[in-house]
Amino acid sequence: MPPLPAVDSASDEILRMQVELRRALAKPVAERNWIMVIDGRKCVGCQACVVACVAENVLPPGVTYRSVPEIEYGSYPDVKRYPMPTQCMQCDRPPCVPAANAMAPGAMAKRPDGIVAIDYGKFRGRAAFDAAARACPYRAIYYDDGRFFTQDSPAFQPYEAAPSHDWGRHWIRTPGRPNEAPAGGARKCHFCLHRLEAGLLPVCVTTCIGRALYFGDRGDGRSLVSELLAKNPRHVLRIRENRGTEPRVYYLTDDPAFIAGFHA
Ligand code: SF4
Ligand code: SF4
Repeated sequence: MPPLPAVDSASDEILRMQVELRRALAKPVAERNWIMVIDGRKCVGCQACVVACVAENVLPPGVTYRSVPEIEYGSYPDVKRYPMPTQCMQCDRPPCVPAANAMAPGAMAKRPDGIVAIDYGKFRGRAAFDAAARACPYRAIYYDDGRFFTQDSPAFQPYEAAPSHDWGRHWIRTPGRPNEAPAGGARKCHFCLHRLEAGLLPVCVTTCIGRALYFGDRGDGRSLVSELLAKNPRHVLRIRENRGTEPRVYYLTDDPAFIAGFHA
């Protein structure tokens, strides 16, 4: 991969994270410790990350690797609304994995770098999907039923047959083949693994209008994500921490109520 320009890392967080990513990639996979930090104070709810994710991963109808719902809490007249970016949390104790594997052996696995992976060849069918979806406390896993956005329109659009790059392979979905992987199985966020391996940050991070998204190696004490968590210990939350899933997505907020609705 081409060398990155020298940067004053304090002045550009994206370039700093890019440099840190390359530093992490120089280590063995098992020594990379990927996490995401989301600064809830900076998200403006624009949905640009969602659109970028759909385009990057050529996602079909009904599948979205991330979403930014608006959370409302309080009672009139003291009501607040927050945009709440969410996605697969790449849990360290992921309940989806045993649930899926009980129905479809080998369907899911925890990678040594922390990403919870799907094997599209083994994760087949609705029954395995339903089991994993029921187990996931974050509604982060979706079923690809083989549909296309433009399949019933006057002209099928070629961009829907563009390749996606999930889990180290190239995939092309074909109309009329709803059981051909990745259709006919479960899909979810993979921290843009294909981009990471090419030395690029996840597309949501590079797209974010509010600069609310951070990604990096928690095993690197000098990384921006490590610094953010260390500097803001009283402002770090994880969604539904009480479920014991050990999510790898951390939220920064000044207002604990920001996340209250997600603790149930
Ligand atoms: S967020 Fe859900 S799908 Fe992702 S690893 Fe955790 S339990 Fe599994
Ligand atoms: S792009 Fe950034 S600011 Fe916009 S919704 Fe996504 S996380 Fe929030």
